[in-house]
Amino acid sequence: MTRPGSGLPGAALIAVGGELFRPERTDRNTPFLKRRLADLGIPVVFQAVVPDEDEVLAAALARALRRYRFVLACGGLGPTSDDRTRFAAAAALGVPLREDPGSLEAIRARFGSRGFPMPELNRVQARVPEGAEVLPNRAGTAPGVFARTPAGHCLILLPGPPSELRAMFETAVRPRLEEEPDRGGGLATEVLGVSGLPESVVQERIADLVPRRGAGAGFAILPSAGEIELRITAPVGHPDEPARTAGRIAARLGESVYTRTAGEGVEHAVGRLLASRRERVALAESLTGGMIGARITRVPGSSGWFDLGLTTYSNESKRRLLGVPESVLKARGAVSRETVEAMAAGARRQSGTAWGLAVTGIAGPDGGSVQKPVG
Ligand code: ATP
Repeated sequence: MTRPGSGLPGAALIAVGGELFRPERTDRNTPFLKRRLADLGIPVVFQAVVPDEDEVLAAALARALRRYRFVLACGGLGPTSDDRTRFAAAAALGVPLREDPGSLEAIRARFGSRGFPMPELNRVQARVPEGAEVLPNRAGTAPGVFARTPAGHCLILLPGPPSELRAMFETAVRPRLEEEPDRGGGLATEVLGVSGLPESVVQERIADLVPRRGAGAGFAILPSAGEIELRITAPVGHPDEPARTAGRIAARLGESVYTRTAGEGVEHAVGRLLASRRERVALAESLTGGMIGARITRVPGSSGWFDLGLTTYSNESKRRLLGVPESVLKARGAVSRETVEAMAAGARRQSGTAWGLAVTGIAGPDGGSVQKPVG
């Protein structure tokens, strides 16, 4: 027996729709939901993509609902015969569907405002699991659903089109989740951003500080290009533990830790430092072809500390725009410490900033060697 509101802490996300298996289809809904749930302190602990097949979908929803406190499913609420989510949800909840007069009226009104009578096909969209709350859809026809099991677990159904899902989450789901007591299940998480060290070196240096799974907090090392995110999650009932562990790890890794804020890249930390010193940077890129400039300009407020970005891909442009000496390019090559220093100095000279930043390398796939590998 589970007590009301119990179950594994965190949320399960289920994206519904066979079309999501196709290579050209990108799931845009679950990344959005993950960000918003994280803002609410609710970690996503399970995720699945499920086809629109009654039995498979009902089984997936029922299983998730038995196990997790919050289950959010998106898609499959349309009016056509391949939209199965409402039927599967009713089966998973063990309740019949009822027609919701308010939703039927809203669907009729939506068609009416465009000068059409409501097609009889759309009537099914007003059917919701008995006992569930109806979430109005101001951007489309299918209403959403917020249902609760006897154990206090929540099943939330959202429409598939991303604009409808987002609007409904903000206006109807977020306020309800904010009201949920202990919604994060005591899952405190600390994040450290590390740069300039290989993953295995980080692992080795902090091995004795990392809590063993089960015994202490959960721990994850998540590397991406040039950055490593360390995530420390508290076991239920020990909310202070991650902060203590994160403090020890930060002290051990020193300057390699550039942030303790989730989602912050190196560019945010660089921007913060430059802004606090009232200094600016100019950039010269070769192999990255503008990618670093793109990351910098995505940081809100970067116009205060970023002056100039040049993509100098050819030797000729390195000479002409940055003043890299011909002799350096000849003797050392475009991919060398001497060239990249001359590029950074050139960028700084061109813009008069305190800092010059430059990147060069071999883009690949050809042209690499043992001394100068691709990348
Ligand atoms: P509708 O009644 O408007 O059809 P629905 O709830 O039935 O909504 P689906 O039929 O599953 O939603 O999907 C409708 C459209 O929404 C899809 O064709 C696709 O363009 C988009 N969509 C659905 N799910 C996703 C997703 N996870 N990521 C991005 N787009 C999605």
